Amino acid sequence: MSVAVRFAPSPTGLLHVGNVRLALVNWLFARKAGGNFLLRLDDTDEERSKPEYAEGIERDLTWLGLTWDRFARESDRYGRYDEVAAALKASGRLYPCYETPEELNLKRASLVSQGRPPIYDRAALRLSDADRARLESEGRTPHWRFKLEHTPVEWTDLVRGPVHFEGSALSDPVLIREDGRPLYTLTSVVDDADLAITHVIRGEDHVANTAVQIQIFEALTNIEGGGAVPVFAHLPLLTDATGQGLSKRLGSLSVASLREEEGIEPMALASLLAKLGTSDAIEPRLTLDELVAEFDIAKVSRATPKFDPEELLRLNARILHLLPFERVAAELAALGLEEADAAFWEAVRPNLSRVAEARDWWAVTHAPVAPAADDPAFLAEAAALLPDEPWDLSTWGTWTGAVKAKTGRKGKDLFLPLRRALTGRDHGPELKNLLPLIGRTRAEKRLAGETA
Ligand code: GLU
Repeated sequence: MSVAVRFAPSPTGLLHVGNVRLALVNWLFARKAGGNFLLRLDDTDEERSKPEYAEGIERDLTWLGLTWDRFARESDRYGRYDEVAAALKASGRLYPCYETPEELNLKRASLVSQGRPPIYDRAALRLSDADRARLESEGRTPHWRFKLEHTPVEWTDLVRGPVHFEGSALSDPVLIREDGRPLYTLTSVVDDADLAITHVIRGEDHVANTAVQIQIFEALTNIEGGGAVPVFAHLPLLTDATGQGLSKRLGSLSVASLREEEGIEPMALASLLAKLGTSDAIEPRLTLDELVAEFDIAKVSRATPKFDPEELLRLNARILHLLPFERVAAELAALGLEEADAAFWEAVRPNLSRVAEARDWWAVTHAPVAPAADDPAFLAEAAALLPDEPWDLSTWGTWTGAVKAKTGRKGKDLFLPLRRALTGRDHGPELKNLLPLIGRTRAEKRLAGETA
């Protein structure tokens, strides 16, 4: 049986780091097992689902390199859900309920005030045909609940270990709304069964759903025959540094804003999210293949992982310091640095936390800089010693050796005035690398205190 997993986002908002971590873990699991990865859009909530969010999900996954082998959209499958609903009704597992939301709230409040769990009392199961006819003649339309078996539900979770629920401790879930639309609890099971999903890997906010959904799987199998209940893995959800959950609407932690506003590289995000909350150390990785090789769902811990944007930015810097020019050329071109080459990239990357910062160093090497030209006599002496071009990575050493011999200066007294005059700044990439990029014409003028 070949492994098949799915990432099933609802296109009702932007993907944030917590969602995309689940996409990544599913993808790594599939790749590691030589299985396949399905992208499924859970878009049956038609009021809240938007095409632009669906496009955003595809853009974010593509940017991260999380390609999908199969694609499905729940809104394409209403016919199939209707068919399953009809079969469940015929078998007596789906029963019509007529309570209004207000009536249900009252029931719940009354149970809670008696210190009892707010479990649906199955009053609808006791209605006679005449009761139902009367309710319908009053204009009520039923919603439909799934009748749970009051037996234990058990599974061995790949992250949580053995999990046990009592069916009697769960409320019969509503699977079909009053307007006839099926709800996620049902549609997800039908899809997972039809698309032969072998492993459902998702957030621990779904643990109670799983208990219910296992019973729906079993009911489906009883009616239609078919495959096994999938294996489940529920990962603890990421929180922010203070332990608060990351809300889907938290714009600043959306993948889109990390990419477009924060300048985060896809492999920085992937390197962090693949290891956060696992027993592996977080290290920069330049390819998803390395993360696949290191992946093992058994390394995922039950402790709540914290997402720290600062840690992501530090990792981004470490990734940039390793990335070869070919991997950033397009990004540099998009910043307007079409002429940047490998020499420029290698000179400046040790000083970058974000690729966009390369623009500052491009300006230093290729645009007029107003130098901080104090110490003019020393700078004039140094300028007179500038060797002829061509310049290469040895020019700086040769030149400053000559300046040192001539002026007797060394250390900071020698280097800082040169750096200030040549770059207009006190800090930056190694001058050995920058000097050939600045070139003799500019260097001479800058040492003479001119803006060049
Ligand atoms: N659409 C659901 C969600 O985003 C999917 C959960 C699942 O993986 O079954 O929470």
